[in-house]
Amino acid sequence: MTTSRSRAFGDDHVDGNALAGPLSEVFVADITLCDCRCGHCGRTGPLASAMVYTHCPGRVARCSQCARVLLRITETPTGTWLDLGSGASLRLPAPPA
Ligand SMILES: [Zn+2]
Repeated sequence: MTTSRSRAFGDDHVDGNALAGPLSEVFVADITLCDCRCGHCGRTGPLASAMVYTHCPGRVARCSQCARVLLRITETPTGTWLDLGSGASLRLPAPPA
């Protein structure tokens, strides 16, 4: 069945349910052991080495080299918000072969 939506975007994609498998592998790991790359200075190291501030709404992790924000995590009554702003990224190690 061709809909106006499939005509506009093509049929070469699937819906977000295709992310369930990969994301379930990502979010069971201990993220603090993962390497985190600062989007500003490029320092890469375990997230556990970040400077974490708890005297604010939620928690803010800052780069231990340049102090830029690596991530913010805020728990609210409706859920947990995770912000990996400023170009920061987490590298999750591949499982052993
Ligand atoms: Zn940095």
